[in-house]
Order: sequence, then C-alpha cells, then structure tokens
Amino acid sequence: MFIFCEFMPNFVPLLHQCLHFLLPNSCLWCQLPVQQAQAQICQYCNPALPRLSPAVPLDNALLLPQVSRGLKPRYFDALYSLSWYQNPWSHWIVAWKFNQDLACGALLCQQLAAAAAGYLPPPDAAVCYVPISKTRLKERGFNQAEQLAHALAAALQLPLLALFASKKGIKHQVGLSRAQRNANLRRQFSLLPNNRLPQHLLLVDDVITTGATVNQLTLLLKKQGVQTVDVWTLAVTSAKRQRRYSAAPSSSPDAESKALAK
Ligand SMILES: [Zn+2]
Repeated sequence: MFIFCEFMPNFVPLLHQCLHFLLPNSCLWCQLPVQQAQAQICQYCNPALPRLSPAVPLDNALLLPQVSRGLKPRYFDALYSLSWYQNPWSHWIVAWKFNQDLACGALLCQQLAAAAAGYLPPPDAAVCYVPISKTRLKERGFNQAEQLAHALAAALQLPLLALFASKKGIKHQVGLSRAQRNANLRRQFSLLPNNRLPQHLLLVDDVITTGATVNQLTLLLKKQGVQTVDVWTLAVTSAKRQRRYSAAPSSSPDAESKALAK
C-alpha cells in the first residue's frame, strides 16, 4: 500500500498517457486526433483560433472603439477578452453551458489560463466571478464563470473569492431593454458578508454583451472601496450583436444561444 501511494503521483500521468495512446481524443475544432493528452484542441488549430487582437495575445479590449462603443455606461476599468463572440468560441460556450459538454468547458478554461500567461497581476489583487442563482446552478450543475475564474486564479496564482449572491427567480436577461435589465440586476445581486475586499479585483464571466451584469457588480464593489475592477471574459459581442441580443423576443436559454451565436 505504501509503495502504491509513493508511486501514485507518477502513475496517474502515465496512466493518462497510456489511455490517450489507446483512445486519442479528437480536436474540438477539426476533429483530428490530438497529439497531447489533456489537450482538447490540436497544435494546428490552436494558433489559428480567431482572436480579438491578432497582433497582441491579450490587451485591454476597451482600447478598441468597436468594443468600448457598445459598453456605455461602463464602471469597470479594463476588459480582457480572448475573442469576438464568434465560431468556434460561441459554439463551445453554448455546448458547455447548455449541453453540459465538459470537454468544451475544459478547453475554454485552458484557453483563458493560457492567455493570462503574459499578464502581470498587481499585488493584493484577487479573482472573483459573476454568480448564478441556486435555481440556475441546479439546472446547469455548475457556474461556468466560477470555473473560468478558478482557472484564471490558478494561472495567475491569485486568491479566488466568492463575493456575490444571486437571488433566485430572476428572469433571463434576454429580451429586456437596457433600463429593464439594470433594474432587474439591481434587485438580483448582493455582496456576501465577511469578505475582506482587495483594492484590485479581476471579475470573470464567460461572455460580455451589454456589460449590464458586470457593471452592477462593479458598482457593488466600488461602493465598498474597491479601486479597480478588471473584467475578464472569453468573448465580447460587437455593438451590432448587442442590439440583436437586446431585441431577442424570448427569455429562454435557447433563445439566448441562438441570438448570440448567429
Ligand atoms: Zn484541430
């Protein structure tokens, strides 16, 4: 037993390599077998993924007018996003959130962590995430923003804080006007007690659309003395898509995915 435990840390990766050799997983984009165990995308597709700024691996997306134009008013200080909301990102995000495709989730977490590699966090920063209601958590089984935040915090070696509560029974945001969304969101979120807030927070969500949710959470944080809130997301929608999103007639998750994925 002792010998087994002693060799266990080496045995598990070896077992993964053997399983991968026997049953290689397919690239989630091109479907060809991937070379590396644990990888969800092949070495050819990875560098070809569409990026928000092809020349810069990760930069403040608010410097792009086509992003900042669609996010007014805005209370957070910077936005780091990997891509526009487009294929294959949108396909993977929808598959993860609505079809519980955990391989897509693993890929998206890996991509966010990899993108953060060149980012130097300020001292005393911490990572937090957009909450979902208990009802939504029960339906979905996980909070995608929390999983992304976990990956980001691990990559940057920052603390991960659960700061927000989300009340149940709040409607989906799709199909509501900006004013209706803001009123809805003011009622929805609150800060959990007994958290010491750092000066600088990295707030994680999967997609930023109108920015209404992260704006409300930023206001809550700044009222409590937080100086800087940087938002991190996988994808950002253009101003044109935000109008389509706001105009979606239904409030179901299916309508959300259809409205955003077009
Ligand atoms: Zn591929």
